[in-house]
Amino acid sequence: MARVPKRASEPVPPETPAEAQVLSEHEGILVIVEQRLGQARSVSWQLLGQGRRLADKLGTKLMALVLGYRVEPVAREAIAYGADVAYLWDDPVLERYRTRPYSEAAVHVIRAEKPEIVLVGATYTGRDLAGAVATRLETGLTADCTLLDVEPPPTRLLQASRPAFSEKLMATILCKKRRPQMASARPGVFEALPPDPNRSGRVVRVGSTLREEDVAARVLDFIQDPDRVNLEDATVIVAGGRGVGGPQGFQLLRQLAQVLGGEVGASRPAVEAGWIDRAHQVGQTGQTVRPKLYIACGISGAVQHLVGMEGSQVIVAVNREPDAPIFRVADYRIVGDLHQVVPALIAEARRRLGPLDEGDAPGNQSAVRTSGASPVHGTREGVQDRG
Ligand SMILES: Cc1cc2nc3c(=O)[nH]c(=O)nc-3n(C[C@H](O)[C@H](O)[C@H](O)COP(=O)(O)OP(=O)(O)OC[C@H]3O[C@@H](n4cnc5c(N)ncnc54)[C@H](O)[C@@H]3O)c2cc1C
Repeated sequence: MARVPKRASEPVPPETPAEAQVLSEHEGILVIVEQRLGQARSVSWQLLGQGRRLADKLGTKLMALVLGYRVEPVAREAIAYGADVAYLWDDPVLERYRTRPYSEAAVHVIRAEKPEIVLVGATYTGRDLAGAVATRLETGLTADCTLLDVEPPPTRLLQASRPAFSEKLMATILCKKRRPQMASARPGVFEALPPDPNRSGRVVRVGSTLREEDVAARVLDFIQDPDRVNLEDATVIVAGGRGVGGPQGFQLLRQLAQVLGGEVGASRPAVEAGWIDRAHQVGQTGQTVRPKLYIACGISGAVQHLVGMEGSQVIVAVNREPDAPIFRVADYRIVGDLHQVVPALIAEARRRLGPLDEGDAPGNQSAVRTSGASPVHGTREGVQDRG
């Protein structure tokens, strides 16, 4: 398991006057908010949550940058999620993500507002954008971070940590002489603040001319993959491990996920056995998730799995071994054979939530199904301290 090193930051060599000026001119933390068709990705709110904590530690402001077309509501949401200022660049050219106009707009705003730190979600889009922006600004970027902290003033350095060398060690990377310090961060690792619609903040419209003629890339069509797994934004995840026993077992988990309006997750051995696609893997080398409800079925609870899911709000574990380590992080534990327990859970969920509506399918998470009363009831028998 990767270990977080004790940071012994080397003394920063004295800057030249020009460098010192660059450092002191930059202030504040900026989060680039990712949205698709006007819907923000949850990683953006997670980064605003972490950005808020870091900004408070530095005694500075938190900014959001919202790029897109007809996305003003997203900018207002950014305020609710912790930003002091949300810069809104609303432009038809930005309707769909394309590297050139998005990076141009971001570079323009960053040059004008001079944040000391810029954070981006490490999604496909975010990684593409972060690289393009960092190279244009000629500054340092740490990709796919799982820990973000700041050194207190006077250095105010961003400590961007990420697993390295096939996850065997944790590298903490500093950018001492260039500004802004940039990092992309892994979805699911940081916790969003509860949105507060009454928070005060300013939405500031920005923008200059972006011309469609200047953009070489054209998006002809956008094809949504009906089988796409969206663990990152799922409210409920029903995950299976080696104990599921085979692909048929996963059919059972799919049914439970379907009634609860959730997605199916898996441990690494289940993926390696070919029972389910790799896109479902949760854990250190899979995805990090933080759903409202995580139901772990036939998963022992190895640390490499736990790091990917222990941020879930409520964890239910089904395992026939009463001493399985997964029970240490579980809020509700069910000791038994999953082939008996899961059908019972499906039947009970159907009874309480009603038959499936038309169009309900895995991945079509209707908040209605999962909000309100917790879908799983029971006594908190055997609850132990998490972590
Ligand atoms: C560098 C590295 C990275 C890794 N990355 C990941 C990762 O991203 N994700 C990940 O998951 N693992 C990862 N692993 C592997 C990890 O160490 C464990 O091997 C793995 O998580 C164990 O998977 P499991 O719990 O499904 O299987 P097992 O450990 O074999 O556990 C199966 C469990 O099912 C229970 N069980 C069996 N039958 C039933 C039944 N009928 N009903 C109820 N319970 C039953 C058993 O009691 C047992 O607890 C990584 C390992 C390394 C070294």
